[in-house]
Amino acid sequence: MKSIVQSEKRCYVCDVYGYLEEHHIFHGTANRKKSEKHGLKVYLCYLHHRDNVIGVHFNKELDLALKKKAQEIFEKQHSREEFMQEFGKSYL
Ligand SMILES: [Zn+2]
Ligand SMILES: [Zn+2]
Repeated sequence: MKSIVQSEKRCYVCDVYGYLEEHHIFHGTANRKKSEKHGLKVYLCYLHHRDNVIGVHFNKELDLALKKKAQEIFEKQHSREEFMQEFGKSYL
């Protein structure tokens, strides 16, 4: 599934092109598959993905900001109920 959160292949946070990694916005074993199924993923540069301070897997604020954005976009195509069914809670 293509991302419904981002159309261009560049870091979602800092807009850089070049070396990028795909990040599933709802991660963890079960949620990763659901993120893939619904296109809830973005490209991130190495730092915004994996750096142990600013990287999304360590930076709770960035993680939450991406989750809120993804939920908003998901709900434009589906509904709050469907989101809750898939991901178990609302971030909004
Ligand atoms: Zn970046
Ligand atoms: Zn990731």
